[in-house]
Amino acid sequence: MRIRHIIAIGLAGVLTLGACGKSGGDGEPEVTTSVAAKVTVPGSTTFAAMESRGKVVIGVKEDQPNLGYKDPTTGKYSGFDIEIARMVAAELGFGLDQIEYKAIPSANRETAIAAAEIDYYVGTYSITDTRKTLVSFAGPYYIAGQDLLVRKDDTSITGQDTLAGKKICSVTGSTPAKRLKDLGLDVLELEKYSLCVDQLLNKQTDAVTTDDAILKGYAAQNPDKLKVVGKPFSTEKYGIGLNKDDAALRGKIDDIIEDSYGNGKWQEIYDSTLGKSGSKATPPPIERY
Ligand code: GLU
Repeated sequence: MRIRHIIAIGLAGVLTLGACGKSGGDGEPEVTTSVAAKVTVPGSTTFAAMESRGKVVIGVKEDQPNLGYKDPTTGKYSGFDIEIARMVAAELGFGLDQIEYKAIPSANRETAIAAAEIDYYVGTYSITDTRKTLVSFAGPYYIAGQDLLVRKDDTSITGQDTLAGKKICSVTGSTPAKRLKDLGLDVLELEKYSLCVDQLLNKQTDAVTTDDAILKGYAAQNPDKLKVVGKPFSTEKYGIGLNKDDAALRGKIDDIIEDSYGNGKWQEIYDSTLGKSGSKATPPPIERY
């Protein structure tokens, strides 16, 4: 009886391990950064927690192709944000096998960070003053702009001022949803952008709005059916979200991002992910505070 019990536990362990291995969170990165040794971040409570647990927990998106994406078949993560997250982890002394990814939707980012469910968040997260009252941001490491995704045969939506009477879909807790609501427009708010894209393909909605970088990924998945309007109407500075009071870790991550501008790593990451579409970009200056 007892032996059987032990075998059962052993088996469960093997199965769990198998599942982890298969989830392949570590995948193979596009850009490899060697894991830094003997890293210290004096005064950082987050870093101290990471060290004592021996791994880093990173909040990400997993339905945004080229940015933060988890392949449903292989379980492998990829994209610009994922590569940035991995580079930061490596520079903090954590290898790919010491990273745990947690998918956190836009609306839950601040609470997840405040509750220390994650050590930091890398997922198309715009730096805003309102959010800065709850979390803090390293970066920015990229600048996007709000745009519109429509069906390819739609000629009626050509920009922000052609949305009256249209069905618009975006995500709860996101800056693009807020911006259109503030303009008096009705916005259907779902949990994640891929759900809006399904609605657009089914003709239940007429436009999906969020950052151009995200929308381009969906258009590339459905090039015969969808297109990005291509007239961005906001500035979305992407930051790495972290604990509001952990200025030490914020400064360290700012240094890591800044170094990646100088040593070519940022460009390498961009070229192998978002840049594959052919669009050019240069890294934005870090805004320390
Ligand atoms: N960058 C915008 C935001 O932080 C939209 C993308 C997102 O929801 O992650 O709200």
